[in-house]
Amino acid sequence: NRGIFNIGKAQVTKLDKNSKNKIYFKDVAGCDEAKQEIMEFVHFLKNPKKYEDLGAKIPKGALLVGPPGTGKTLLAKATAGESGVPFLSIAGSDFMEMFVGVGPSRVRSLFQEARQCAPSIIFIDEIDAIGRARGRGGFSGSNDERESTLNQLLVEMDGFGTTSGVVVLAGTNRPDILDKALLRPGRFDRQISIDKPDIRGREQIFRIYLKKIKLDNDPSFYSERLAALTPGFAGADIANVCNEAALIAARNDDSTVTVQHFESAIDRVIGGLEKKNKVLLGKISTGAQNDLEKVTKMTYARVAVYGFSEKVGLLSFPPKEDSFEMNKPYSNETAAIIDSEVREKVSKAYARTLELVKEHKNHISQIAELLLKKEILHQDDLIHVLGERPFKASEPTNY
Ligand code: ADP
Repeated sequence: NRGIFNIGKAQVTKLDKNSKNKIYFKDVAGCDEAKQEIMEFVHFLKNPKKYEDLGAKIPKGALLVGPPGTGKTLLAKATAGESGVPFLSIAGSDFMEMFVGVGPSRVRSLFQEARQCAPSIIFIDEIDAIGRARGRGGFSGSNDERESTLNQLLVEMDGFGTTSGVVVLAGTNRPDILDKALLRPGRFDRQISIDKPDIRGREQIFRIYLKKIKLDNDPSFYSERLAALTPGFAGADIANVCNEAALIAARNDDSTVTVQHFESAIDRVIGGLEKKNKVLLGKISTGAQNDLEKVTKMTYARVAVYGFSEKVGLLSFPPKEDSFEMNKPYSNETAAIIDSEVREKVSKAYARTLELVKEHKNHISQIAELLLKKEILHQDDLIHVLGERPFKASEPTNY
C-alpha cells in the first residue's frame, strides 16, 4: 500500500545483488536461442568498463517477444542473476494512474533508481500498455497521459549514455502494435523471441519442476511422458501441472505423486486453458464435421458443376455462394440423380481411403509415433520412414 504521498513512485519489484531469490539461466529451460541472444547483455553488465574502453556501443534495450507464460520475466531475472546486478521490474499498466502526470514521474523515478544502482536491469512487463502506437485504444487512462508516459520513457532511454550501465528489457506478445519510435536504434532495437516450447523444451522444463516433487518413479520416466502429453503448454502451464499434481496427491493423502495425479492435473490445466482459449478465439473446433462438409461440397461440385458425372452429363448448375442450394433449372428427376451420384462417389472414395489406410498401415503408425515423439516432421524424416518419393517434387514456381 503506497499511500497518497507515494503516488509518484513506481511500484517496483526489486531484486538486489545479494537477494536470496536469485534466478539463473539453469532455472529457465527450453529456450536456448533466447538465452544465447541475451548473453551479450550479460557480458556487458558483468564488465561494462571493457566495452567502454574499446568504444563499443552496447544495445540499451531488447524486447522479449512471446506468448504469456513462456518465461520472458524469468529470462530477464536470470539475466540479472547471471550478471550479478540488481533487477527492477514493473508492469506497463502500473504506469497508468488516474492522476495526470503520474505516469511520466514514475518513469523518471524508476530510471533514477536504476542509475543509482547501476549496472542494473530494468524490466517492463507488458510494455504494450504504454507503448501502443498512437491512435490505438485499449488501455486505461487518457491518451495524453499514455503519450506523455511513453515520451518520458523515450527521453530516459535516449538520455542515459551507454556508460550508465542500465539495460532495459521489456516483455510483449504484440510487437506489431508498438509505436515505431520505441523500436528505433538506441532504444529497443533488439527483439528476442521466446516461443512456446517444443516437446524437447517441455521435457527440460518438466525436469526442473519434477525435482521439487516426491515421485513414485524416476523423474526421467515422467519428464518424457508428460512432455508428450502436453503439446501447446507454456512453461507456466508446466509449472502449474506439477504443482497441481502434488496438491491432488496431498488431497488424496497419498505419500508420493503418481501418474494418475499428473493425468488429473493435466486435465485440469487443459480445462483452464480451453476456457481461456474460448474467450480468446471464440471458436470451437468442428473436427471431423468440417472434413465431411468439405467432402460433400466438393463432390456436389464435381457432379453438378464441373460435369464429372456421366449420368448427369455435361451440365453445370453452380451453387449459390456458401450454400448447397442450386439455382435449380433442372427437374426433380435430375436432382435425384445428382444426389445418388454424390452418395455413390463419396462411398467409393471412403472405401478407397480405407484400402489405402490398410495398405499403408505400417507407415502411418510409424509416422504417428514419430509425430508424437518429435511433433514437427521435416522432409528428411518422411524420407526416412517412406523412402524417396516415387516421382519428382514439383519445382517452386517463380512469379
Ligand atoms: P511471461 O513473463 O513470459 O509471461 P513468466 O516468466 O512470468 O512468463 O513465467 C511464469 C512462471 O512460469 C515462471 O515464474 C516459471 O515458474 C514458469 N516458467 C515459464 N517459462 C519457463 C521456462 N522456460 N522455464 C522454466 N520455468 C518457466
